[in-house]
Amino acid sequence: MPRLLLATTNKGKAAEYRDLLKGLDFKIVTLDHAGISCEAEESYNTFEENARHKAAFYAKLGGLLTLADDSGLEVDALGGEPGVRSSRYAGDNATDQDRVNFLLNKLKDVSQSKRTARFRCVIAVARPGGAVETVEGTCEGYIAMEPRGNNGFGYDPVFFLPEYGKTIAELAPEIKNRISHRGRAAALARGILIKIATP
Ligand code: IMP
Repeated sequence: MPRLLLATTNKGKAAEYRDLLKGLDFKIVTLDHAGISCEAEESYNTFEENARHKAAFYAKLGGLLTLADDSGLEVDALGGEPGVRSSRYAGDNATDQDRVNFLLNKLKDVSQSKRTARFRCVIAVARPGGAVETVEGTCEGYIAMEPRGNNGFGYDPVFFLPEYGKTIAELAPEIKNRISHRGRAAALARGILIKIATP
């Protein structure tokens, strides 16, 4: 079976991709398995540029077909922040909980109806020879007033979905994977991978 390098060091994301890529004719290989320990830079200002750069960087390094993503949270009342800075929002050594608290504090004077936000995910699939294709998924919701739920990772406990009356952290993983930014982008990425796998 051909191999697909899943280029992420984020454990929450990796767990989701293992489910989202199930059933494809590829053996999923992690960066650890491929013996890759150096990290790609994420210094661009768009999710797409970061995802493209990461996928191309690891495809070249590992000599494998590679899937990488860049994702994050865009809050309208904050002009789209934290965006590509989502993982570094509260400083380099901050935890998920620190980032959630930092965000809630920034929004403390913003009413519920003005707390619209979305998660965005761009997936890039890179061939070792250099060709890169990208797809994108989004998930719309609101930033809750306080965290709720224990599932998922990152900002999930404060990302409220009105149609479920729950935060993403209160949803079962299979529901998150069906409706999330990453789930939607992965559904499109499956199309690219199937095309590549089909001679
Ligand atoms: P990166 O794509 O590794 O640069 O990091 C994306 C960051 O955005 C994560 O560290 C989280 O803080 C946030 N994020 C991305 N996707 C999700 C998600 O599905 N749930 C919660 N937070 C997310």
